[in-house]
Amino acid sequence: MKAQPQASHFIDGEYVEDTDGTVIESIYPATGEVIARLHAATPAIVEMAIASAKRAQKEWASWSPAARGRVLKKAAEIMRERNRELSELETLDTGKPIQETIVADPTSGADSFEFFGGIIATAMNGSQIPLGGDWAYTKRVPLGVVVGIGAWNYPQQIACWKGAPALAAGNAMVFKPSEVTPLGALKIAEILIEAGAPKGVYNVIQGDRETGPLLVSHPDVAKVSLTGSVPTGRKVAGAAASQLKHVTMELGGKSPLVVFDDADIDSAISGAMLGNFYSTGQVCSNGTRVFVQKAIKETFLSRLKARTEAIVIGDPQDEATQMGPMVSLSQRDKVMSYIDKGKAEGATLVTGGGIPNSITGEGFYIQPTVFADVTDDMTIAREEIFGPVMCVLDFDDEAEVIERANATEFGLSAGVFTADFSRAHRVVDQLEAGTLWINTYNLCPVEIPFGGSKQSGFGRENSAAALEHYSELKTVYVGMGKCEAPY
Ligand code: NAD
Repeated sequence: MKAQPQASHFIDGEYVEDTDGTVIESIYPATGEVIARLHAATPAIVEMAIASAKRAQKEWASWSPAARGRVLKKAAEIMRERNRELSELETLDTGKPIQETIVADPTSGADSFEFFGGIIATAMNGSQIPLGGDWAYTKRVPLGVVVGIGAWNYPQQIACWKGAPALAAGNAMVFKPSEVTPLGALKIAEILIEAGAPKGVYNVIQGDRETGPLLVSHPDVAKVSLTGSVPTGRKVAGAAASQLKHVTMELGGKSPLVVFDDADIDSAISGAMLGNFYSTGQVCSNGTRVFVQKAIKETFLSRLKARTEAIVIGDPQDEATQMGPMVSLSQRDKVMSYIDKGKAEGATLVTGGGIPNSITGEGFYIQPTVFADVTDDMTIAREEIFGPVMCVLDFDDEAEVIERANATEFGLSAGVFTADFSRAHRVVDQLEAGTLWINTYNLCPVEIPFGGSKQSGFGRENSAAALEHYSELKTVYVGMGKCEAPY
């Protein structure tokens, strides 16, 4: 199997190689096979990408918003036409089953280009402020060259969720995908050129934790948007703050999902499974602490166990497969060590906890796992695992569960399942999180803002709110008379 791109980087409208960069191997997680070899950007490549973006941005920002929007909408159209091909590539890059990538990855990227391409014609309007004889007006202006740094769980989606609002607002972007999943973003860069974007408006360079800082600290970069872990977020935000750059931080979580005893149990189980097992549990907003009210605990667990054991695990390229491998061997090892801690600290293993019996090859598979009787102090209830491991905790009443749900440094997401709508709104109002769901989980259409609070980050992606994070206000005071001075 091969997925070798023409070259490692896409700069100024074309593929570029510099073999002096450290080798990055792209590994297909279902077999452990190396499917492509790329190179991390050298300092010369970083300079080339930023210089190209700087040149291109001036021209791009001078286009009318509607003209920029047309390019983005065309890119969305091309992505939809190539959905199968892009989804197959995403499956190779991440190991996620084609059943998922075909509905969730390039399509959500296309949604983003379509949405921002559509709203930008009016979304950048400023205001006019009467001041008696004088008056003022405001303009919303792009920041300039912005950097996007991606995680490995949704490579194409992240490349688009950052690129679409950034480009719509008139910025140029240099995007660095995760070194674990280097392939998809290159295709997004190609498609934007095909859709009519000027060369250099969206450049992609490869690299790892050594390359990221070169981008973040570059004096020509006005803003950094990172999707990654909290420790990386602290480093990137710190480096950006030292030069007073704008930042958006989409970081990790340990989100609570609260199931009250009046909830539709099967629907709540669906929410908990979606919020723990989709993408083999590698989703930042997952509701990994499932608080279940005591009266329904046994029913909830027995139905959850049966449904979890029926999940079809296997070859991600088979349309029938519902769960693929983890993205990498190191990620699987990390998740296995959390499972061991869960057992050692006294949680009850309801199902899973090992490598699926049906798997014989070298892929990084793991069983979907459910722990019950998890207590707040256990490591598996406190730390982000980022794998298919659901922790079920019991609770007695509303006040107690709100306090326990909030007792975490994270604040990305939260969910509530209940038939009582007053309670639903009362509870979500008190949960400390940026994105919350009532009677569903993990749905993130482009129309709604997405992002975290507390240590899960700041800034928002998607919706018109994202444009505020890729632009700033310029205020112009217009004096209509003679300028008076007391001197
Ligand atoms: P990571 O923090 O290890 O890496 C993220 C990216 O940052 C990579 O591209 C990496 O090369 C780069 N990087 C690392 N150190 C850097 C530095 N010092 N300066 C600049 N760049 C640097 O995260 P990961 O393992 O790729 O992804 C998993 C994490 O991402 C999880 O914590 C998950 O919750 C989080 N995540 C958050 C969201 C969200 O929207 N909130 C979405 C997906 C994933």
